[in-house]
Amino acid sequence: MAEVYYHNDIKDEVLKNKKVAVIGYGSQGHAHARNLKDSGYNVVVGLRKGKSWDQAVDDGVDVKNVADAVAEADVVMVLLPDEHQPKVYQEHIKPNLKAGAALAFAHGFNVHFNQVVAPDNVDVFLVAPKGPGHLVRRTFEEGAGVPSLFGVEQDVTGSAREVALAYAKGIGSGRAGVLETTFQEETETDLFGEQAVLCGGLTSLVKSGFETLTEAGYQPEVAYFECMHELKLIVDLMYEGGLEGMRYSISDTAQWGDFVSGPRVVNEDTKARMKEVLSDIQTGKFAKGWILENQANRPEFNAINARENKHQIEEVGKELRELMPFVKKSQSKEKEVVTH
Ligand code: NDP
Ligand code: MG
Ligand code: MG
Repeated sequence: MAEVYYHNDIKDEVLKNKKVAVIGYGSQGHAHARNLKDSGYNVVVGLRKGKSWDQAVDDGVDVKNVADAVAEADVVMVLLPDEHQPKVYQEHIKPNLKAGAALAFAHGFNVHFNQVVAPDNVDVFLVAPKGPGHLVRRTFEEGAGVPSLFGVEQDVTGSAREVALAYAKGIGSGRAGVLETTFQEETETDLFGEQAVLCGGLTSLVKSGFETLTEAGYQPEVAYFECMHELKLIVDLMYEGGLEGMRYSISDTAQWGDFVSGPRVVNEDTKARMKEVLSDIQTGKFAKGWILENQANRPEFNAINARENKHQIEEVGKELRELMPFVKKSQSKEKEVVTH
């Protein structure tokens, strides 16, 4: 089994006398900045004036513009949306990076696909929490944490690995487990996971199931409960006890159906498609498409998004969720539950 580092194994002195600049104060940014501060580190947040700036001030963290925050930092953690990182990096981060500082990320996309090219006098590492930012903060406050991957791309000081581990401990990940990876592995597996299984695979599976039932004349409300609502209950069981734990709780009829019908739906053909998806990620084809889509102001992204939001499962779901007040809206607003 791969080596997993925990809270008490990780030395954090190396980060104690350093200044950490967290650039961005969104889902991940607010969690990293507040957790590191509560762990006793010296933190400054780098932002432009706006909504996040006001929030950071309200939360009592030290806020500066990006250039000033970077100029005084020994560790610069870039927690801007991936699409905006290259521009902000070129304009405000790179010109102000101290020699010997560390440039850090929570996802390897921009470094791995060469959208951000670090100078050769800084360390480059990643600490990628395997959970949404709001949980990185909430679990920390509860005395727990979200597991993280860490990886070193460039080590000029000789201490990049130690600093990365200390950083992961500072955001609370030592309580859940910290695992070593590379920028390449983190980027490719993260993209694959969200595309083939967690987001893409799942939404397509749910919609196809819903459409199959409604096209056969069944009530959309019944199809919604079957194909969407119950999913969370099943996933919770898998999260706690794996496939066996989930199968223990369902009826034997459901389990027999799982065995005989599951592999008819997701079969060798599906796996061949998954391999194509993985290959497009590995060759940079996916990254290129997404970078160009952003440069063109997202025409296709916006068109698909508008169409998807009008799907019947969404209309029915909205009405049914209104009637279930215990299904909290705030939870569904948390972004990017995967991953990333
Ligand atoms: P968000 O979209 O939640 O955060 C955006 C933040 O960046 C906001 O504070 C925003 O401030 C600020 N920002 C945007 N543009 C600029 C700019 N030009 N100058 C200054 N500040 C700017 O990002 P995420 O937290 O989702 O993602 C951050 C990184 O973490 C990404 O690399 C992502 O892949 C990674 N990651 C994210 C996870 C998640 O749970 N979301 C999970 C694991 C990794 P403003 O209010 O001014 O717009
Ligand atoms: Mg991910
Ligand atoms: Mg991701």
